[in-house]
Amino acid sequence: MLADLRRTLADRYGTSDERRLDSTLRRAGRLVVPVRFHVIHNGRRGWLSNKDVRRQISTLNAAYGGAKGGVDTHVRFRLASHGHTDSAAWFYSPRLYENSMKRRLRKGGRNTLNVYTAAVGTDVLGFSTFPQWYRRKPHMDGVVIDYRSLPGGSFRHYDRGYTAVHEIGHWLGLFHTFENGCRTPGDGIADTPYEARPAEGCPYSRDTCRQRGRDPIHNFMDYAHDSCMREFTAGQGRRIRAAWAAYRAPRRGARSVDLGTGPAAGALSVGAPR
Ligand SMILES: [Zn+2]
Repeated sequence: MLADLRRTLADRYGTSDERRLDSTLRRAGRLVVPVRFHVIHNGRRGWLSNKDVRRQISTLNAAYGGAKGGVDTHVRFRLASHGHTDSAAWFYSPRLYENSMKRRLRKGGRNTLNVYTAAVGTDVLGFSTFPQWYRRKPHMDGVVIDYRSLPGGSFRHYDRGYTAVHEIGHWLGLFHTFENGCRTPGDGIADTPYEARPAEGCPYSRDTCRQRGRDPIHNFMDYAHDSCMREFTAGQGRRIRAAWAAYRAPRRGARSVDLGTGPAAGALSVGAPR
């Protein structure tokens, strides 16, 4: 998928160098992602209020803005709509019914984040698509998270809303920090040190690979408890903006922008330099 990103960037912008590209992308300002929030519930179970949803959006903005400790990725989220769907089947088996659920509910274009909450489970708290997949399966694009993982939810150790932060990281093009273990290229980002396996709980400190740097156990793209997570790195911010430019930025002249939040929804639109 990294090769696809480099190829796409080179085709569209004449370079796949994320540092070089970034100065252009940042001049375009913050990247504001319109969010379509779909609450799947079974009667009262799984039902989330408008306040619950807004708290999740605030948590996303704090995490991606660097307010928890990391860098400001220059990504922000704006709630465009919020709806409820009462369905026991979709609620209890969101993976099994993923296709029909998304076909019915998904809204917007490539730049719109569709978030679904349901009873995903206890071994996996959420799942997401990557931006590279949009081309072939646009209707499947989005993030599904467990309703108990929202801020103040009932999942022990995973109740601060960072499951959504993590899954949306994938939606924006980030891999796990332990991707490929100690083998190159790892997660393909220079400032997240190599890591042999996911962090569990909240280790005081860990160093599982011979390469330089301690394990990035506080990174949102690791697997530690919510209380342990607090940061994205500058390299991850650049990767997100590069992946956005390659796969999610509205095409010039195309009307694929989700207008749900007003003119252009504040979405970053980068014109090709050539
Ligand atoms: Zn993940």
